[in-house]
Amino acid sequence: MAMILPDISTCRICGCEASHPVYIAQETIMGSFERFVYFKCLECGCLQIDPIPTDLARHYTANYQSKILEFGILAKKSLFKKYLAWLLLFIGNKKESSLGILRKLFPGFLWQFKELGINQHSKILDYGCGRAQFLLRLYSWGFEKLYGLDPYWQGPEIETKEMVIKKGDYSQLRDHQFDLIVLNHVIEHLEKPLVVLKTLRDHLKENGVILVNTPLVDSYGWRKFGNAWAMWDPPRHLHIFSVKSMALAAKKCGLKVEKVTYDSGKNLWTTSQLFSMNPESHSGLAISQKELTKRQKPMNKFLRMMEAIGDSDMASFHLRIS
Ligand SMILES: [Zn+2]
Repeated sequence: MAMILPDISTCRICGCEASHPVYIAQETIMGSFERFVYFKCLECGCLQIDPIPTDLARHYTANYQSKILEFGILAKKSLFKKYLAWLLLFIGNKKESSLGILRKLFPGFLWQFKELGINQHSKILDYGCGRAQFLLRLYSWGFEKLYGLDPYWQGPEIETKEMVIKKGDYSQLRDHQFDLIVLNHVIEHLEKPLVVLKTLRDHLKENGVILVNTPLVDSYGWRKFGNAWAMWDPPRHLHIFSVKSMALAAKKCGLKVEKVTYDSGKNLWTTSQLFSMNPESHSGLAISQKELTKRQKPMNKFLRMMEAIGDSDMASFHLRIS
């Protein structure tokens, strides 16, 4: 991580004009090893690429883009799962300790939905849905008002009673209002995160919630690994938020942060370690999932501790209308 003397830059999140600290980051994941300039806002802490490359599409090669889905094959509804999920979302809240075994039996998103008051009839938008894996999973668990938008969607547009998936962005939301809007590792890719957040807020029902999962720059991973931090991903990650900058962004868009949950991310610590040992080898992606899991295992206790003290690589933000 190199540092050079910067000119005055304006933060795209909080508007602070200053000589923000500048960092040079090298593309590693796709193996182009091009260098990009970022600055970290002195006021809100958001790490942002400067300038935004005009040819971003070039950096989303085939491996990174969506692939066509065989909708009919993957999206199978299971009545068994539907009723199990219904039961889980219906039963009263119990203390954490008494739910230990149940927690392991059900996918994590069901517990999160339960906490947020989301049920199978809630209208859910997955903004930047990628290959729609999450929507298809929700469908199999009996959720029935599902919407997906992705500018890189390459499959056929889907429009059924229970699921709509379209290629595009927020300009296509028309008069839809949602109970839950999910931005799963999407906000860091947006050129204008404030414009998108504000628009999504306008499509949120009064008691609705926006769930933002994103890397965190104010984390031990960023401080330890610098340019080798797997969550940096230049130039595709245009804005890497701090907790403070997310709160400011939310406020500017008529939202408030209701809760932050910290998450160390599966495998990513190991990937950062591999990048830091040999950044030009592309080694982080060359090893198998099994090997990554094996290498990550000894770190699990440490990573859980980082989550507990709020110093982990990623976070999940619950945003509600302020
Ligand atoms: Zn700022």
